[in-house]
Amino acid sequence: MKFQDKIDDNSKIIGIPRAISYYYNYPFYYGYFKGLGFDIVLSYKTISKIINEGSKYVVSDTCLPIKVFVGHVVNLLSKGCDKIFIPSVQSTAYKVNNCTKVRGLPEIIRNVIDKPFTMIEPTLDKTNNICFKDFCYDTANQLGIFDEKIIDSAIESGWSIYNNFKQMTVDGVPFEEALNHAINNKTARKPIEIVRPISVVIMAHGYNLFDERISMRLIPKLEKMGVKVYTGLNVSKQDAVNSIQELGEIQYWANELDLTGAAAYYMLNERIDGIIALSAFGCGPDSLMVNELEYHASEKKLPMMHLTIDEHTGEAGFLTRVEAFVDMLIRKKRKKIEKSNIKFFQSPQKENTNIAIKQKEQNLTIV
Ligand code: SF4
Repeated sequence: MKFQDKIDDNSKIIGIPRAISYYYNYPFYYGYFKGLGFDIVLSYKTISKIINEGSKYVVSDTCLPIKVFVGHVVNLLSKGCDKIFIPSVQSTAYKVNNCTKVRGLPEIIRNVIDKPFTMIEPTLDKTNNICFKDFCYDTANQLGIFDEKIIDSAIESGWSIYNNFKQMTVDGVPFEEALNHAINNKTARKPIEIVRPISVVIMAHGYNLFDERISMRLIPKLEKMGVKVYTGLNVSKQDAVNSIQELGEIQYWANELDLTGAAAYYMLNERIDGIIALSAFGCGPDSLMVNELEYHASEKKLPMMHLTIDEHTGEAGFLTRVEAFVDMLIRKKRKKIEKSNIKFFQSPQKENTNIAIKQKEQNLTIV
């Protein structure tokens, strides 16, 4: 659907903002709402117009992802969508909480957008025994569906699509590709692992990292520099939980698996040369998690860079910082290789980041 395409018949349509929980749960939502007999209308991909719209409605020090979320709701309303799914995800496990803004999303929208529409606003709060099944039943009931067989079968199809999506991402299939395959009931082939000389893990919320406008296409930019990128999606839930425990930390924040969990997993397995933390300016939970990781990274002498973003972040300055970090990782790796008596050749091409790696007998040769 295009930016302002209008909806003809609203009766069996639910609007989903392409923001916040979309980046974790859309495969589930897709199977679930289809199972309930609803079609989904997504807001347009994040562009500057959406950010500017969202920014108009909230105070300026609100974090960028919330401004983006509000902009997506406005976009759905401009399409004529009259039912919009805005869940309140309070906690995802006992005492594993979301930040107040994510918890209060329905309240934020109710207070800042004065337009008539129906908000489908179920609550998930495992700390207070409101489990995921309750969340799904509440959603269906708000849509006027009470038949338990229909709801259970919709939940099942949601999980089936979600589990396929998650397995693909753990296998290394990129986010968009895994999403498209999952909602079409297909499975993408496990990609052949490309060996690259430098590997990093990005610790970030999915809604920051996989939104191409917010992250300024950080992943493809790094890959173009010859960097292997790992993210929270590549780590199974159990591995992320175990890694947090192994670091001696306690999971407190709902998105901690994608941040501390992912970074800890790759750090403990010594599969990375550096960590990039990407977070929104003014984000309280991220500042705590990033601090915690910085402590562990410095103990392991692992370089870490923290990038903060807001709606004014310029792409040129952002890219310069990323390039400088990658250059530093390459210099560090080169020294390590030279010390270990392995041959290392500088690329004859002008970009020393444009590197391919070749395994030559026992020697590692970087050309
Ligand atoms: S966790 Fe941080 S970035 Fe996400 S909504 Fe809360 S304050 Fe904003």
